[in-house]
Amino acid sequence: MLYSQKLRLFAATFPLIAIIGVNTVASEPLRLISTVVIDAGHGGRNLGAKNSNLAVEKNFTRKLANALKKEIISNNGDAVKVVFTRPGKNDFTQEERAHIANSNKGDIYISFHAASGYGKDSHDLGIFVFEDKPGTSWETVGLQYAQENLQFARTLKIHLDAIYPYKEFVIRRGNFIPLQGIGMTAVLVEAVGLNDPRDEMEISREDFYIKFSKAVYGALLEYGINR
Ligand SMILES: [Zn+2]
Repeated sequence: MLYSQKLRLFAATFPLIAIIGVNTVASEPLRLISTVVIDAGHGGRNLGAKNSNLAVEKNFTRKLANALKKEIISNNGDAVKVVFTRPGKNDFTQEERAHIANSNKGDIYISFHAASGYGKDSHDLGIFVFEDKPGTSWETVGLQYAQENLQFARTLKIHLDAIYPYKEFVIRRGNFIPLQGIGMTAVLVEAVGLNDPRDEMEISREDFYIKFSKAVYGALLEYGINR
């Protein structure tokens, strides 16, 4: 081999190693999930919960949705589609949100909310799944995914609990309006207690949103692998 050839090979090899390194360490694509629907709770005049520092739920859910979208795209490029149920600032009805999710043929639906109120339970974190008596209404279409919903909720709880050292998520089942009419695996996450001073500290930091979306992404990865 000529010296000049060796030099060219050296130059050609190193960028490749750098690219492989980034791909294997920093980014792992989702499996068996091609469309993720993210539902940022509330919107427009519907502010959702507020706290005494004037943090508003609709803004918080939007920030979480944006951060998760960024995390999914950075790991998958355009191989995974991310759909928002409220693309702009306006509020959407549950029928509209369900229509957007179902017509985009989502594989998984994540609705973001925050716990509110000032009572004893107002600091609780929750992961909600739809449960109701079987019916013919559009609202109960999600019942056929009951098993997947619970499986994803349990996976999500493990990943999200890891980022809250001082409390944990509780899985709840019931006929929750933000999960009505969703024809795919779906969960609702009450991601923080807006009136919990510890959570207030967390959500004022930009890295909270990165940390949170990485935890949700970890759950999506695991769910796709075990599907
Ligand atoms: Zn809400």
